[in-house]
Amino acid sequence: MSLFSFLTRMLFPLRCIHCGRFDIYLCRTCEPFLFTPGNIAQPRPLIRKLFWVGSYKNPFLQQLIHDGKYSGIPSAFTSACRILFSVIRRANYDFIIPIPLHRRRLRERGFNQAEIIARFLSQDLHIPFAHDYLIRTRYTRQQVKLSYEQRQQNVADAFLLVQPLPAAVRSILLVDDVWTTGATMHAAAQALRQNKKFALTAAVIAKD
Ligand SMILES: [Zn+2]
Repeated sequence: MSLFSFLTRMLFPLRCIHCGRFDIYLCRTCEPFLFTPGNIAQPRPLIRKLFWVGSYKNPFLQQLIHDGKYSGIPSAFTSACRILFSVIRRANYDFIIPIPLHRRRLRERGFNQAEIIARFLSQDLHIPFAHDYLIRTRYTRQQVKLSYEQRQQNVADAFLLVQPLPAAVRSILLVDDVWTTGATMHAAAQALRQNKKFALTAAVIAKD
């Protein structure tokens, strides 16, 4: 633990976001009551199924994503991934791929939240994950304030598959933090399918 994170932990000890219990981001008692995990078939033509932990309108989930993404509290994502794992555990995938950030955005933020989520899921599901196949070639605007059409244009052709995936890979789990219109996942799916027609499934923390 670095001195900075030690001091941060002393000043702002980890507490359950719901009941305030110390030393845990979200306790096991509160966990089942806070979110409503779900899934939907074919949310986009290229995506067979989408899994999520809860609705983006849920203020606790908004806080969780904010804490994981901007406050650098990885245990926020650990809690969410535990829930995600419980809904997708029986599924069969050959590979997990996080939605990549552009390298400039990665420098600005210091980490890719989708990669953190993918890493946790990879450990829980015992499925290999890789972040060096799919890259983001365009530095796109933040999607938050864009309309549906603008979102599609903003990410179209933003991804590139830089090397073919292992020949044995047939089904892929794509991972991101938030699903809004699915434009980002769709663009990533298109880039992947230039290699082969993989069966693609998506998993996110929050669905709009
Ligand atoms: Zn609690």
